Amino acid sequence: SYRKGGYHAVRVGDSFAGGRYIAQRKLGWGQFSTVWLAYDTRSSRYVALKIQKSAPQFAQAALHEIEILSAIADGDASNSKYVIRLVDHFKHAGPNGQHLCMVLEFLGDSLLRLIKYNRYKGLELNKVREICKCILTGLDYLHRELGIIHTDLKPENILLCSTINPSKDPVKSGMTPILERPEGNQNGGAAINLVEKKLKQRARRAVARISERRASMGGVGTTPKPDRSLDGIDVRCKVVDFGNACWSDKQFAEEIQTRQYRAPEVILRSGYSFSADMWSFACTAVELATGEMLFTPKEGQGYSDDEDHLALMMELLGKMPRKIATGGARSKDYFDRYGDLKRIRRLKYWPLDRLLVDKYKFSETDAKKFAEFLCPLFDFEPEKRPTAQQCLQHPWLNMENLTKNEVKSEPTIDKVSVGMRNLQIKVGK
Ligand code: ADP
Ligand code: MG
Repeated sequence: SYRKGGYHAVRVGDSFAGGRYIAQRKLGWGQFSTVWLAYDTRSSRYVALKIQKSAPQFAQAALHEIEILSAIADGDASNSKYVIRLVDHFKHAGPNGQHLCMVLEFLGDSLLRLIKYNRYKGLELNKVREICKCILTGLDYLHRELGIIHTDLKPENILLCSTINPSKDPVKSGMTPILERPEGNQNGGAAINLVEKKLKQRARRAVARISERRASMGGVGTTPKPDRSLDGIDVRCKVVDFGNACWSDKQFAEEIQTRQYRAPEVILRSGYSFSADMWSFACTAVELATGEMLFTPKEGQGYSDDEDHLALMMELLGKMPRKIATGGARSKDYFDRYGDLKRIRRLKYWPLDRLLVDKYKFSETDAKKFAEFLCPLFDFEPEKRPTAQQCLQHPWLNMENLTKNEVKSEPTIDKVSVGMRNLQIKVGK
């Protein structure tokens, strides 16, 4: 993709915007862009530099993102709304074309990284609560003050305000900014990128070989890793990635959201609004607390992933009201006129509070309180879901768990398949 119309190859020490920003290291990449840690020589701060691919459709998308991000920055002078801040933007001419560049405040790891770091075991409820407050404050600002729907809320698109590993933070680690291109970094960037890529591939293969060997030696690879403490980690976070966001009165796409976080009205094509973000928020909150995605629909024999998704929703939340089930442009693909799924006939109900207790070993009280907070957000009728503003008033956000999340009981003897298709619960002693 480092060719005409594609990514711009960057080398450490490259300068942008007439020398104002100097590239330090690569932070990540997406479908449309690469993102670099850069040093802003004017403000003497580190920033994230997002460099878009240059082809017209990518430039168009970047312009749209800049428009949304500018509205966000204009309405939040004190930068206190838990939404990513655009600092600057400009064009950069390179061998592959003109690239729109966004300068964003530098943030830390995504919540997905945090979940992985915690070995998919779910975060302590006090941490989940703090994260929920940040996300809801951000959503309330976007929805109520700006009329913006994010449309792709998920753990990957929420970044911590600080890095999990302090040595990755240029300020905390005391890194001195690189101000010019180091020696031996003078030739073509694309070539360097290729070499880098090959070295990385080789390293990955070596790691894979080693762990394979370990596994075949028996046991070594399966030693349980010790728990990691999240005690020192400040979980304040911000909503990012406005590449797909839209104005509520100027929508672009019928199909929005990442599959697992997609609201029922989007699947059924009944029209969507701010409340679609609230559904994704609720899916995200459950995932933070359990370490696993709430809905992982798959296509099966005789039914599609969409139909499976609707079935999973109803198994957790009860039957969809007939009026809602039959009211969308796509309803006839999935439901008969009585509001029953056409191809998945037998549903096994397993409500959220029971799921939290049975599968994830929450205490009865924790499960009940958390489910009380979330269940209204999982209303099949979008208009009935509480707004972000209403959620912020909920007692669950203002209570505190004095004890740590209950120690989860030892895994299991029997695996008994109960309830939801696709899900197995583990039954303890
Ligand atoms: P795309 O729209 O191309 O998917 P994203 O905005 O999602 O790009 O950014 C790609 C990746 O770059 C993110 O997943 C994240 O790892 C990193 N990143 C993006 N913005 C920042 C930021 N402000 N601070 C730190 N890292 C960032
Ligand atoms: Mg992205």
